[in-house]
Amino acid sequence: MSDLHESAALSARRQRTRTALLAVLAEYGALSRADLGRLTGLSRSAVGSAVADLREQGAVTEETAPHAHAAGRGRPASVVSLRRESGLVLGIDLGHAHITAAVGTGDGTVAGEATAELDIDDRPEEALDTAAALAADAMRQAGCEPGGILAAAAGIPAAMDLRTRAVRAPTVLARWIGLDPAAELERRIGVPFEVANDAEMGARGERALGAGRGLNDLIYVKASHGVGSGLVLGGQIYRGASGLSGEIGHIQLPGASNWCRCGNRGCLETAVSVVEVRRQLGHVLAGADRRSVPRELPPLAELAARPATARVVTDAGRTLGRVLADLVNFLNPAAVIVGGELGRAGAPLIAGVRESIDRYAQPAVAEAVEVVAGALGVRAELHGALVMAAGRRRTRT
Ligand SMILES: [Zn+2]
Repeated sequence: MSDLHESAALSARRQRTRTALLAVLAEYGALSRADLGRLTGLSRSAVGSAVADLREQGAVTEETAPHAHAAGRGRPASVVSLRRESGLVLGIDLGHAHITAAVGTGDGTVAGEATAELDIDDRPEEALDTAAALAADAMRQAGCEPGGILAAAAGIPAAMDLRTRAVRAPTVLARWIGLDPAAELERRIGVPFEVANDAEMGARGERALGAGRGLNDLIYVKASHGVGSGLVLGGQIYRGASGLSGEIGHIQLPGASNWCRCGNRGCLETAVSVVEVRRQLGHVLAGADRRSVPRELPPLAELAARPATARVVTDAGRTLGRVLADLVNFLNPAAVIVGGELGRAGAPLIAGVRESIDRYAQPAVAEAVEVVAGALGVRAELHGALVMAAGRRRTRT
């Protein structure tokens, strides 16, 4: 039977069924048919025919489970799992100063990875070309062709308008405005792409593999050059009406008045971006050594461990926590996870956030929320892109 004929014969419903099975297999690993039915809500017969289709295509394997013989009469229990070579997806993390591409699975496995430092803000074409070159490099390392990649996702440090798929950020990534990064990446790499805001990717990564595992309500904060957040509410990523939710970097701080790149005064980002925190740390270091501000600072984690500079970090945490306290009051999440470059500062930063949440949120709400640094560090966004792609993998026909 030709591929064309086969794909024409498959109903849209069967396609959806197969996509649903692949998504739960990518997330959970090997599963029995019964578990596949339970997790997808599909009937036994629907699961049976989809598994048969996927086996025929070579997308999954089915093997008798160990310890299955004691199950009594009837068919011995078996488990279905993805064939590794058909389970690979591509994830790209675009930051203000770097691009990383990785080929792997949604369970944290990375089979190939390549990264480059690049200021992407002013050069979208060059950034997209570089992303494509890095993706090709990661695929080579993983030993696969674009045709072997089932789906791809990329996170970018700007607000994305879901209705148009275009970048929509008048003051951030200004040269990217109106660009459809998913289409641009698809055209260059030859794999279907989903593109989302980087903080959403971080939330996906931490929830699937890191500090947010098993939690249905959390706020992930990506504090790097900018400050953004990704929300998981009621077990779902929350994007807002047009995909622009989570912009906590431009919430006004009580009493603050510095001008922000967005045109407002007193935004959170003016006080706690990693650039501003580093500036303050440089100032303290210069004071301590009676010298001019050093050009290169030691790593943030090291500075956070020194008493004098730890204060600066804790103070940034308090400021961040002041805004988060209101959000925690409003949303009652189970966790606030702080990631991004600032998250590398670890304990002193988290202590500051915790202090403000305890001080400004309602006691019962403050008690219910855990405040932690991201477990995946600055790799949360990259893993989140892989997790997203694994959840949206196309079925091969
Ligand atoms: Zn602002």
